[in-house]
Amino acid sequence: MDNLSNPAVIRALLERHGFSFSKALGQNFLINPGVCPKMAQLGIDSPDWGVLEIGAGVGVLTQELARRAAKVAVVEIDQRLLPVLEESLAEYENVSVILGDVMKVDLPALLKEQFGDRPVCVCANLPYYITSPILMMLLEQRLPLQAITVMVQKEAAARLCAQPGNRECGAVTFAVRYYSTPRQLFPVSRGSFFPAPKVDSAVIRLDIHPNPDYGVKDEKLLFTAVRAGFGQRRKTLANPLSGALHLPKEQVQQALTQAGLSLTVRAEAVPFEGWIRLANALKERLG
Ligand code: SAM
Repeated sequence: MDNLSNPAVIRALLERHGFSFSKALGQNFLINPGVCPKMAQLGIDSPDWGVLEIGAGVGVLTQELARRAAKVAVVEIDQRLLPVLEESLAEYENVSVILGDVMKVDLPALLKEQFGDRPVCVCANLPYYITSPILMMLLEQRLPLQAITVMVQKEAAARLCAQPGNRECGAVTFAVRYYSTPRQLFPVSRGSFFPAPKVDSAVIRLDIHPNPDYGVKDEKLLFTAVRAGFGQRRKTLANPLSGALHLPKEQVQQALTQAGLSLTVRAEAVPFEGWIRLANALKERLG
């Protein structure tokens, strides 16, 4: 089915199936015809790749992915879209639509079953209400992915691609930088969606590091410290870290000094390597 980025075609398709948009599920579908081909082209490096898409909508991006990759599997939570997709994707034999919540699906099993040993990437226009949880989940599971190319809110794109140690940073920024090399690809205006959201968007690509190794002694401790620090980002680090790790404040302060950080430092001012040194110094005190 052609012209899936034409609002009149989308409206007619959705009306035929009695579909109405759900705001709660972040259903803003792409109608700018330039965006999906560009996303698919920049997200897929080889026609041998498999692609995992999250959230199909009416299948406008799915079609572009199917044209450029060996296989596409798309996880969509809204059962009402299944008959719509059956119609819009009828001519694409290399697409599987899987009904489910991407946060609950067994992704390692799904990737194996759908793609076997093929290189796989993620390419998606993410539902904005769970952008960070989805990215954290994809990264922390250490899925065998080459890259993750996603549309997110403009502000989220800036935060996700910021350098740790910068004011825009959050805990997710650190995780992104730990597991990947992020970059912003291109901006997308709010008018590119139907219905139009209140914010502009941007497409980012994360190139996954196959074996991140920064000499971290205890990864779980590192991420607990990062989350605790950014959870109270207006406070200096010693208090939140002491609380989260059940370690006396004086020992946290010694660890900060050992890591070459100021006792009054806040999470957003800690550079990437600073977090690694700090977590290793804390580990020495926790045993
Ligand atoms: N890919 C389409 C496009 O670009 O027009 C739709 C993108 S729309 C922003 C997000 C899609 O994600 C919707 O189809 C929505 O139903 C779906 N969705 C929302 N939450 C989801 C979840 N937890 N798991 C899977 N899909 C989800």
